[in-house]
Amino acid sequence: MNKAGILVVGNEILDGITLDTNTQWLINKLKPMNYTISETITVRDDTTEIAKAINRMMDDDIGLIITTGGLGPTYDDLTLKGVAEAFGLPMTINPVALSIVTRQYKAFHESGVVDSPEITDARRKMAVFPVGAKPLDNKAGGAPGVMLRWEGAIIVSLPGVPSELKWIFDNPLKPILADRVEGCYTEKIINLSARDESMLAPLIDEANKLEPDVYIKSMVKSMVNNDKGYVIRLWISCHGEEMEEIQVKVDKVSDFLVDLAEKTLT
Ligand code: AMP
Ligand code: MG
Repeated sequence: MNKAGILVVGNEILDGITLDTNTQWLINKLKPMNYTISETITVRDDTTEIAKAINRMMDDDIGLIITTGGLGPTYDDLTLKGVAEAFGLPMTINPVALSIVTRQYKAFHESGVVDSPEITDARRKMAVFPVGAKPLDNKAGGAPGVMLRWEGAIIVSLPGVPSELKWIFDNPLKPILADRVEGCYTEKIINLSARDESMLAPLIDEANKLEPDVYIKSMVKSMVNNDKGYVIRLWISCHGEEMEEIQVKVDKVSDFLVDLAEKTLT
């Protein structure tokens, strides 16, 4: 239930025009809720590639798939077609989605952002959903988010525009995702005075024995040489049932490492 996957759709990402910031933003929202992102896939604006990636994530038992990009009005916005193809679903106009699109273009027109509020074919396209999918309201743009429940999994499609993705996630989507996740997660980042990661390795082995549920990752790339000397960052994290319990475990491991590093490395 807690496994999540992110599918990024867009030629602009794979051609280096746009930096994919949506993935990192989504991960940092999902992680504290205790979702574990087990894979991210990036594909081009291609229906078959989108469907293949979704099927792969379904085969990997991922219970929450979030797609980003490809929901807009143009011919190359193909994400919903890909979702429909993955599950063999026909596409049809969704009346609730159409009312969201209509409301948004009326508001855009009233505030002078667009010339006409008319629901053209291009605008109507954003309300054509795989049968059974439900809209997620979007007050930050024109394209509603889309949620499909399939055999216990949830497939959510969000726009690529970061402000729209964030609005939909923080408003209609977050409570739905919070409801279906179990357990909790905590993490802590500490700095140890050391410059050689290999000297840290035996200390990490000791800490792993102390609390096997706690994950310790040394991040040597962020080694900094400042006036205080060399520092290696350690990221210490834990999943569990009770927040208090996992916080105690993470604190125990971090105190142990700080102590041991002081005794043996300095
Ligand atoms: P789309 O929803 O695919 O039409 O994307 C609309 C715009 O959102 C693109 O032109 C990009 O500027 C931006 N965008 C799309 N995908 C991402 C992403 N993964 N990270 C950041 N920005 C994105
Ligand atoms: Mg796109």
